[in-house]
Amino acid sequence: MKTAEQFREQAIKLNLHYWEHHTCAICGEPVGYYFFTCPNYEVIFDSGCGCSFGSNPRPSSWEDVAEFYNMQTSLDVINKMDEFWKWEETE
Ligand SMILES: [Zn+2]
Repeated sequence: MKTAEQFREQAIKLNLHYWEHHTCAICGEPVGYYFFTCPNYEVIFDSGCGCSFGSNPRPSSWEDVAEFYNMQTSLDVINKMDEFWKWEETE
């Protein structure tokens, strides 16, 4: 399990601005989170399309990011996410 703070710190460390965590099952558009450095690494959820979550980007949070990560059960998905986030092996 990862915490919201871990994601925030990692995003700053890796200078991340967008995390596409999957593509829409219906239309194939990317679905993900934008990270805005101003003023303080805010998170915006962007569904990319209107199929499942509504079409407008909406304010989100690092808690949401952590929750999305922690609820995944597919090892395949988890491996892909870990590849993106490049966690240190020390955890
Ligand atoms: Zn779609």
